Amino acid sequence: MTPVTGTLRRIGTSTSVVLIGAPGSGKGTHGVVLAERLGVPYLSTGDLLRDHVARGTALGRRVGACLDRGELVHDDLMVAVVGERLAELEGRGGHVLDGFPRTVAQAEAAERLVPGGPAEVVVFLALPDDVARKRLAHRADGRSDDADGATVEHRLEVFHVETEPLVGFYRARGLLRSVDADQPPDAVLTAIESALRQ
Ligand code: AMP
Repeated sequence: MTPVTGTLRRIGTSTSVVLIGAPGSGKGTHGVVLAERLGVPYLSTGDLLRDHVARGTALGRRVGACLDRGELVHDDLMVAVVGERLAELEGRGGHVLDGFPRTVAQAEAAERLVPGGPAEVVVFLALPDDVARKRLAHRADGRSDDADGATVEHRLEVFHVETEPLVGFYRARGLLRSVDADQPPDAVLTAIESALRQ
């Protein structure tokens, strides 16, 4: 198999991927493996925020209610948090971003934050809502925002309204690769890797 890194278009020396998808589309599952294979850090903004909530930091206290309700954290705060983290990750050869950007405003801010933009490739994990609902209902890691049906519905709605416009945003920039996420995990990962080689 051709190594993924060998064929990616490069910005400088980095390999940078952004994953977009509805809750339950597999961004975390595949993001971790992809980052490992590319040899770059994986950054999940959801994990980062949940960690702050769990540790009771000032940031965690600010965002906890948002996470519980399935609402997005304010763009300016997210851009500041991610900007700081990306600065720490500079020089690590790129990144796989899961969960950021999540709005067009964040994507525009990210273009100002990272010279050349945060991604060489944006992978959209396309998944029907009914499949997402089933996956979230069975997700093993016991997240509180997966447990409540109304919160799940709200997150799906927020995804369609706030995040899905990024598909057009990145398609217009020629960066978008769409992958059918309604397949077994191995097949999705294979599809992501072949999308990165396109
Ligand atoms: P996730 O683990 O990606 O599903 O994110 C869990 C929650 O974290 C979301 O429902 C939001 O409340 C918050 N969150 C994560 N990333 C972002 C972001 N880029 N912008 C705003 N809120 C975010």
